[in-house]
Amino acid sequence: MTAIRLYNTRTRAKEDFAPSDPGNVRMYVCGPTVYDRAHLGNARPVLVFDTLFRLLRHVYGEDHVTYVRNFTDVDDKINATALARKEAGAEGTLEELIHQRTQETIGWYHADMGALGALTPTHEPRATAYIGAMIAMIEDLIARGHAYAVEGHVLFKVRSYPDYGKLSGRSVDDMIAGARVEVAPYKDDPMDFVLWKPSDAGLPGWDSPWGRGRPGWHIECSAMSYELLGPSFDIHGGGIDLQFPHHENEIAQSCCAHPDGGFARVWMHNEMLLVEGKKMSKSLGNFFTVRELLDQGYPGEVIRFVMLSTHYRKPMDWTAERAREAEGILRGWRAMVAEAEPTGPDAEIVEALADDLNVAGAMARLHALAKAIAANPQKDCFYEKGVFLASARLLGLLEDGMGDWARGVDLSGLADKLARLRAAAMETKDFAPVDALKAALIAAGVEVRMSKAGVELVPGAGFDPARLEGL
Ligand SMILES: [Zn+2]
Repeated sequence: MTAIRLYNTRTRAKEDFAPSDPGNVRMYVCGPTVYDRAHLGNARPVLVFDTLFRLLRHVYGEDHVTYVRNFTDVDDKINATALARKEAGAEGTLEELIHQRTQETIGWYHADMGALGALTPTHEPRATAYIGAMIAMIEDLIARGHAYAVEGHVLFKVRSYPDYGKLSGRSVDDMIAGARVEVAPYKDDPMDFVLWKPSDAGLPGWDSPWGRGRPGWHIECSAMSYELLGPSFDIHGGGIDLQFPHHENEIAQSCCAHPDGGFARVWMHNEMLLVEGKKMSKSLGNFFTVRELLDQGYPGEVIRFVMLSTHYRKPMDWTAERAREAEGILRGWRAMVAEAEPTGPDAEIVEALADDLNVAGAMARLHALAKAIAANPQKDCFYEKGVFLASARLLGLLEDGMGDWARGVDLSGLADKLARLRAAAMETKDFAPVDALKAALIAAGVEVRMSKAGVELVPGAGFDPARLEGL
């Protein structure tokens, strides 16, 4: 079996990955708050952990991996969008408008992430379906002395959990100094965080032992991961921005409610996304949703290629130039394997991915394989192309149904022109025009096959249709 090594944020080391049950490898990734379209930064963890999901399925078997990614469908931002609609005259109760908004956003999310080739996780729990489990967990935390109820709130007592801060490697006092902790009169300690808060009549709420209210954000993931994966599981993932406080709080809640469980063993965090070298922000005008990029004509597969080509633990820079390059590469690869059937992936590519998701290493190997295939124009390389295709698909690339964008380059006119030039050259004995056109086609990444039967032009690896202009 392939040995997988993953960088564990908690131990700050790359470790051999050994699932507690190889028959059911379990992974939890924090999902979106569904109040609006996903932006490009939201797509990064989706693609990183989709690639890990694919690798785990390859190594342990498709039916032996459980991947949970939640939807946070109770949140002040969701309430605000629904309230704005109501004020603008939309029909229905606030509750109905909230439900409409979350349904609509989940639909967008599935469509947009699907366009990037992300597989659907095994479970996509919605927080509002687990309120009972959250209340039970909060009651348990109070009973164990880790939480207290006050004025309709329930707060987690951070100093009751001595390991708080271990994931980020910081002490509670350091965190207080660096964080914007909310000081509230009902808190025993400014670091204590909300497990439950009261809802007034105009907001969604559920009955609880502490009055009508709604859960804090952090308790959602603790309750849903417990319900779906149990008190301990293999991998917990998310963006690095969630490490503190969200993941520290998840650990504190879960480890205090289930002290024998241990919660997640491996913690993985992806770095942030930049656009043209700068942090994405609405004020800089470089803020894109995934849908906006798709609508601008960037194929989902190209976005995926660019996003994956930087290691997940490094900041990833989205640039139009990199997207153009990716488009040329993918076009060539698609043309090369147009008639191939996937076999099994290349061992070196699996090994690269197993080394803490070294996608760049896997892509370098794909380039080398493509080059070897292109260097053998006489052979049809049926087997090699099958390996290439299976390897690319392990990265979620060159999938069926994602390649429509790459079709539609018609080379028959240029093939006819080359045939005519050759016929003329037979008469004049001046082969210069034939050689010139041939050289230009090869420079554009086109494979030129000339025989007595005629001229055949096949786009090869590195095919760049822009370089055909003017020929
Ligand atoms: Zn979470």
